[in-house]
Amino acid sequence: MDKIFEANWIRNLKACDDSCVIFKKDFNIKSGLKKASLQVSALGIYEVSLNGEKVGDAVLAPGWTSYKNRVFYETYDVTEMLKTENKIEILLGRGWRFRMNKNDSDDVLAYDDTALIASLELEYEDGCETIVTDGSWKVSDSKIRYSNIYNGDVYDATFEAEEVAEALVIDYRKNILTKRQGEKIKEFERLSAKELIITPNGETVIDFGQNMTGYVEFNICGKMGDEATILHAEILDKDGNFYTENLRDAEEKIVFICDGKMHTYKPKTSFQGFRYISLVNWPDEVDLSNFTAIVVHSDIKRTGYFECSDAMVNQLYQNVIWGQKGNFLDVPTDCPQRDERLGWTGDAQVFCRTATYNFDTEKFFTKWLVDLALDQKEDGRVPHIIPDCIDVKYGSAAWGDAATIVPWQVYLTYGNKDVLEAQFESMKKWIEYIKSLSENYIWCKGDHFGDWLALDVPFGTYVGATDKKLIATAFFAYSTSLVIKAGKVIGEDVSEYEKLYENIVKAYQTEYLNDDGTLKNMTQTGCLLTVYFDLYTNKQNVVKQLAEDIKCCGHLKTGFVGTPYIAHVLSDNGYVELAYDLLLRTEYPSWLYPITKGATTIWEHWDGIKPDGELWSKNMNSFNHYAYGAIADWLYGKMCGINTCEEKPGFKHIIFKPCTDSRLSFAKASIETRKGLVSASWKTENNKTSYTVTVPENCTATVLWEGNEYEITKGGTYTY
Ligand code: BGC
Repeated sequence: MDKIFEANWIRNLKACDDSCVIFKKDFNIKSGLKKASLQVSALGIYEVSLNGEKVGDAVLAPGWTSYKNRVFYETYDVTEMLKTENKIEILLGRGWRFRMNKNDSDDVLAYDDTALIASLELEYEDGCETIVTDGSWKVSDSKIRYSNIYNGDVYDATFEAEEVAEALVIDYRKNILTKRQGEKIKEFERLSAKELIITPNGETVIDFGQNMTGYVEFNICGKMGDEATILHAEILDKDGNFYTENLRDAEEKIVFICDGKMHTYKPKTSFQGFRYISLVNWPDEVDLSNFTAIVVHSDIKRTGYFECSDAMVNQLYQNVIWGQKGNFLDVPTDCPQRDERLGWTGDAQVFCRTATYNFDTEKFFTKWLVDLALDQKEDGRVPHIIPDCIDVKYGSAAWGDAATIVPWQVYLTYGNKDVLEAQFESMKKWIEYIKSLSENYIWCKGDHFGDWLALDVPFGTYVGATDKKLIATAFFAYSTSLVIKAGKVIGEDVSEYEKLYENIVKAYQTEYLNDDGTLKNMTQTGCLLTVYFDLYTNKQNVVKQLAEDIKCCGHLKTGFVGTPYIAHVLSDNGYVELAYDLLLRTEYPSWLYPITKGATTIWEHWDGIKPDGELWSKNMNSFNHYAYGAIADWLYGKMCGINTCEEKPGFKHIIFKPCTDSRLSFAKASIETRKGLVSASWKTENNKTSYTVTVPENCTATVLWEGNEYEITKGGTYTY
């Protein structure tokens, strides 16, 4: 058993306020030390230093899990950091918390006060010794006088802690301690300041050139007692002024109180979503070289790459990548800036395939799915947010379906059926739950978000026009089909689900389709779900109905639910050119429109910034929301043609089926898969288009190119 279980949970005698405290312990070591392992966990966010040096490279540890069920501990090898006399200091702040609306008070997740637990195992040549957190540890206030994930921190360089008290040992469950699963959060790129701007309102603003998630490291001197403030924002408004209204009730504010000496500072217990910062009461002359934006995200490895001959599409792809970096902080979050930053299930489900191609996210999603299953209710309801923090009466279609869609996609991309085995009970429970809310196989009761943010309703409405019950029943069928597939992979009897599936499909067709197969109440999303989820009676008629609607208005009108499928359904069913029309369109609404407005990440709304420069409502206007970035899986899968095969997942067999368009002269993509590098590219030269694919050793492939089908039985590079 790991040594941390021998340690005690300790906390400060004073109930925790919003400041950070530091736990300390001095100790000596004997000669003959072979290895020293430190294990740490906390209710809150911690950072360890040993003899003045930070231990490990994780930030925002221990990360965010379903705290009522588990909190992660980390093991650090600190052998090289020890001397004869040592001082360990562990900073502890309030940590991850939940806030969603103005006036919401912070809800610290599942614990009412912060606490720390740690063990240091010293292995000597002649035996072992373990130092654990207990009443002999000291605790004092720290210079971080305020710490809040959403609001930022206040650091007072002049503050001296008055007293050092003994830590209080508390009786708190140790069975929640869990070895970290998934990647830790770390620092990545360091972006230098691009431009100093004095706005029309007279604000001193620095532009880092990229909307991102992390924090700013800065050098500051000032005079004793000077109070300098940094505010963060994603955009400047129409007039070029610093714009923070869309942050709602997240202040994203760093305050530094100077002591007249030079300091280099960066936050340790909060993060911000921003591209711009505004300096308020800055005491020193503003020199851009004193400011660096540090990008933080989970330590997931980049695996996917894409490029084509259209610079704007390339920018779109880069925006998708930045959207993923900005929202993969231990939990797949909706956005990193406003008072939300939550593991919204729907967003994760929509973006999941793209995410698994861009980065190696097998561990990341597997970890999140464990929390999903832990937070799933007795009756099978999947909360809207994982880790769960809001109580609602019913689940929502397309959100709760993350329970089936995410494990299935992780299996398809990485080829490892463990995730299906681990999630199968949760997947089935979700179906049972939907069943309990259904009447005659139509999913009736629900707390549905519908086709969230679709454009087929009057301006300003959040929920699109597609009937919520249609969406719900379509997902009921789709999720059931995934349970059937998953069950077959892991050798479970799924006959009951097969019958259920047939009944749902029949009910759906009777309720929502005309005799000729078209939709009774036509919406783009309705057509898309009918086709993509195989619920049609006459596929071509539905696709035609969809295509006509798109041609008539000239653009997509879909929201979170329909958008991920629109380009796929068109290009899979004879409308490649129309799929490209949607992709290459630069006017509002389209994927490229935000780029004409300077976007460097994916927006929550098609019209986050309207053509006239006005902004969508301040209540819900994130500029770093990855959902619509799901188009990248079409770039990999359809534009470049790289696809998994359900029978041989994990790219053991690859289906190459590209869609070209004369408006582009080349496109290429690659994915570093479990089997090796898979790549595909096409280019047009002298009116002839050729297609080249790379298949890893021990993999096979089918290539569908210009009406021909080729089988590849051996790894290598092939050109057609
Ligand atoms: C979030 C979304 C989420 C939605 C639920 C919003 O506040 O930002 O991305 O899925 O609520 O409809």
